[in-house]
Amino acid sequence: MASSQKDSPPVCDYEGSDYQSSFWDTGERAYEDQAEAIALKRMLPKAGNLMLEVGAGAGRNTPRYKGYERIVVMDYSTTQLQQAQERLGRSDRYIYVAADVYRLPFMAGLFDGATMIRVIHHMSDAPLALSQIRESLQPKAIFILEFANKKNLKAILRYWLKKQDWNPFTPEPVEFVELNFDFHPKTIREWLRKIGFKIERQLTVSHFRIGFLKRLVPTKILVWLDSLAQFTGGLWQFSPSVFVRSRAIGETIIAPEGSFFRCPECKTPLGEEKNNALKCECGLTWGIEDGIYNFKEPIK
Ligand SMILES: [Zn+2]
Repeated sequence: MASSQKDSPPVCDYEGSDYQSSFWDTGERAYEDQAEAIALKRMLPKAGNLMLEVGAGAGRNTPRYKGYERIVVMDYSTTQLQQAQERLGRSDRYIYVAADVYRLPFMAGLFDGATMIRVIHHMSDAPLALSQIRESLQPKAIFILEFANKKNLKAILRYWLKKQDWNPFTPEPVEFVELNFDFHPKTIREWLRKIGFKIERQLTVSHFRIGFLKRLVPTKILVWLDSLAQFTGGLWQFSPSVFVRSRAIGETIIAPEGSFFRCPECKTPLGEEKNNALKCECGLTWGIEDGIYNFKEPIK
């Protein structure tokens, strides 16, 4: 699943993956999906203009961004975006973009909202990805981040019982499988603050992600219990999943009216589309195919 790009950290690529159908649509993760929907609803602003969804996959969460007028549905994998397009349709509301989070193709200060749910989990250079997102945001924009928490109760118990060699209390990320990382909540907060975010709210999510509980207790009840437990997120974080809402503060550029894409290689603003392509003055041309902008590889 991993692939690499020169001068850029490796990216976990879901190209050709049946992630949506094999992971989400089987119903085994109905509890996690509904618990996430509640957390998102609690964190999303009522209204917004332009949202960037980083790592949208097949668009599972996209319909939940109701308050936003337009949404950039971004993923590294074009096949995931094709699935998203089937789910959400082609309209002015959704802009489908294949791009690398480490080299975002958007003008600085473009968005007034962004989300990244279940994605930082795959990032070997999370601070670089976060600072790219921060750059793309307008002053006071909202950013909702979900991360996998290394300091979760199960990991702590396993560590105490000596069934796990890594320490859940230390600040560094743990890569438990290649390109799969869990993070310490304090480290995530420090990164966010350092790059110009003010943390507004934290919710702990999926407290009951335990096989036998999910089999024994009806999903509705687990989701209800989780929705109550989420409120403890501001006090302590021992759940496997944590949502953080932060706001862009400090020195912030606002993208000039009418500008949108920039060249991911040289950062020059890109002008009008011609013949389903965006041509940069550096010589690179970026293609648009079947309604999907492709900033992964330039056209030869
Ligand atoms: Zn260029």
